Amino acid sequence: MHDLLTSDFRNASYWWDAAPLADHAGGALAPSYDVAIVGSGYTGLRAALTLARAGRTVAVFDKERPGYGASRRNAGFLGRTLKKSYVDLKAATGVAHASAIYRDLMMAYESTLAFIAEERIDCHAVRCGRLIAATSASHHAELERELAGMKADLGLPYEMLPRARLREEMATDLYEGGAVIPDLGSLHPGLYHRGLMERALAAGVAIFGTCEVTAVEPAAGQGGDRFRIATAAGQVRARDVVVATNGYTPKSLPWHARRVVPFVGYMAATERLPPELLAKQLPHRRTVIDSNLDIDFFRPAPAEPRLLFGGATANGLKDPEAIARLLHGRLRRALPDLADVKLSHAWTGQCAGTFDMMPHIGRHDGIWYGMGYNFAGVPMGSFFGLKIAQRILGLPAGACAFETAAFPTLPLYRGNPWFLPLVMRYFAWKDAKLARRVPTLRPSWR
Ligand SMILES: Cc1cc2nc3c(=O)[nH]c(=O)nc-3n(C[C@H](O)[C@H](O)[C@H](O)COP(=O)(O)OP(=O)(O)OC[C@H]3O[C@@H](n4cnc5c(N)ncnc54)[C@H](O)[C@@H]3O)c2cc1C
Repeated sequence: MHDLLTSDFRNASYWWDAAPLADHAGGALAPSYDVAIVGSGYTGLRAALTLARAGRTVAVFDKERPGYGASRRNAGFLGRTLKKSYVDLKAATGVAHASAIYRDLMMAYESTLAFIAEERIDCHAVRCGRLIAATSASHHAELERELAGMKADLGLPYEMLPRARLREEMATDLYEGGAVIPDLGSLHPGLYHRGLMERALAAGVAIFGTCEVTAVEPAAGQGGDRFRIATAAGQVRARDVVVATNGYTPKSLPWHARRVVPFVGYMAATERLPPELLAKQLPHRRTVIDSNLDIDFFRPAPAEPRLLFGGATANGLKDPEAIARLLHGRLRRALPDLADVKLSHAWTGQCAGTFDMMPHIGRHDGIWYGMGYNFAGVPMGSFFGLKIAQRILGLPAGACAFETAAFPTLPLYRGNPWFLPLVMRYFAWKDAKLARRVPTLRPSWR
């Protein structure tokens, strides 16, 4: 096994090399804040920054060092789609609702890039384009149906790629072609988070790392403060509370924990590669996902000649070497030229699924929340953080199509997703079932 790992292999996020997690004590705890925020990822910090710049006093609490969650562990793909297909959403809820949801997704995507540019956050944000690689001919046809539906209703660009042209995009024969979405983006998630955190601190946000919130309770009759928050550093009061814990949502917030399904995502980085070898793998430096529900994904590192990739979500492995071995198998299968390269990093992070596969934003018992990003939390977490802040500030701009939906749970579910292996098997079955289907659309390459 060791011949697959570099001598300095680390079981740690590659992004922490450039944006290491740091201890952050946050100073003395004030007795009261306008807003207390649980969780220091994109959602919490974007809300905090917006509120502080509007003159509110804000405290952000994280159980771990700030940025410990998925925000400094993800793949850094910037998209504007959901796990839930646009065409299916439209069939289920009508064109008005589906297009309102997807317009918000587009706004989340565009506003995240605009924010990064305005704030001059140096995080390698680029519109590199994305290849969606079809795992079978019928997946290709389904992809075309979905993208054609989005283009017709929303004007979103795409180009179908026949199998014969796949190698223009990726050094593989594994896929039945795919589609290129030319304007989707990518960034360095660690540097983005670090830039956001620096700006929140500069705006006066108090960030308390290694400071778990253990309870949030109503505080009736205590001035304008509606909540009492128990933290590892003591008790504080706040007029508003935001829960921004996504895949790390604790059982001490039972209403939220009952509504998100935490699952583990897996990623790895290769050693530094000869630049021409990397350029051959992904000549246009696009991000790549495959068309399965349980995706494999690939991208070049932003500033070094390495490939970053992931997949095998929620497979249950914990041992770093076993994880690296599994991921290396995925790499060899998709990009055989890289069969002999070593891995320098492998890591995991927690995402949050939901029972309707939709992200959720809203207010329950007076507590604001944004979570359930289903793998789209880089733009959606940033967007929901902004929207929550605007709602707290009473701004009309805070309106959001996602806020209207009910947030479903399952009877007896308490936040322990014992059923995840079954869900992953169901996804694999659905992917295989679609793969066996004879394509119903005439694929564009014929
Ligand atoms: C491997 C992987 C790859 C991914 N790839 C992508 C991608 O390419 N594109 C994309 O858009 N999304 C991706 N995601 C998802 C995305 O990273 C997340 O949706 C997003 O970072 C969530 O941000 P957040 O701020 O809501 O939560 P997080 O960044 O997860 O932060 C939640 C924080 O809450 C804290 N917390 C929990 N309980 C408490 C408590 N009781 N008190 C105080 N603090 C607490 C945690 O310590 C944690 O730091 C990926 C996720 C993973 C794991």
